[in-house]
Amino acid sequence: MTVKSILSSKGNAVTTASPDRTLQDIAHTLADKKIGAIVVTDGEGAILGIVSERDLVRAVARGGPEALKDVVGAHMTRKVVTTTEDKTIVSVMEDMTRGRFRHMPVTAGGRLAGILSIGDIVKHRVEEMEKEHSALRDYIASA
Ligand code: AMP
Repeated sequence: MTVKSILSSKGNAVTTASPDRTLQDIAHTLADKKIGAIVVTDGEGAILGIVSERDLVRAVARGGPEALKDVVGAHMTRKVVTTTEDKTIVSVMEDMTRGRFRHMPVTAGGRLAGILSIGDIVKHRVEEMEKEHSALRDYIASA
C-alpha cells in the first residue's frame, strides 16, 4: 500500500501559511480546520517549515500568552521530513515513529502534493484490516 492510495481518497489539499503569520493566526486556523499541523511555505510554495499544535504548546509554555504574537517562522520546525506518493505506508509509519511526529507532507516533482496525519494512516489501516477479516470470514464460510 502506497502514500498515493491514501491521497486518492483524502485528496491533495494542504493548509499552508507564510512565515510571517502569528502563532495566534496559526492557532485559529488549526482550530477552524480541525487539523494538527500547517506547512509553512514561501511565496512560490516551497516548504520552509512545519508548525504543529505541539509547537504552539511549547511556545506558550516558554513565553506565556505573549508568545502568540510571535511569527510562526520563529517557532516552526525547519528540517521537514517529507515523503513521495510512491512510498509505502509502512515506510511513512517508520519515519513518523523515528522522528516522533504525526504529520508527513507529501511532495511530487518538488511541489507539495498532500499531507498525511497519523489519523489518516490509522483510519486506512483499520479499513484495510476490516477488509482482510471480511475476506477471510467469507473464505472460511464458503469452504
Ligand atoms: P506533531 O507530532 O506532528 O504534532 O509534531 C511534533 C513535532 O515535530 C513538532 O515540533 C513539529 O513541528 C515537528 N514535525 C511535525 N511533522 C514533521 C515532519 N514531517 N518533519 C519534521 N518535523 C515535523
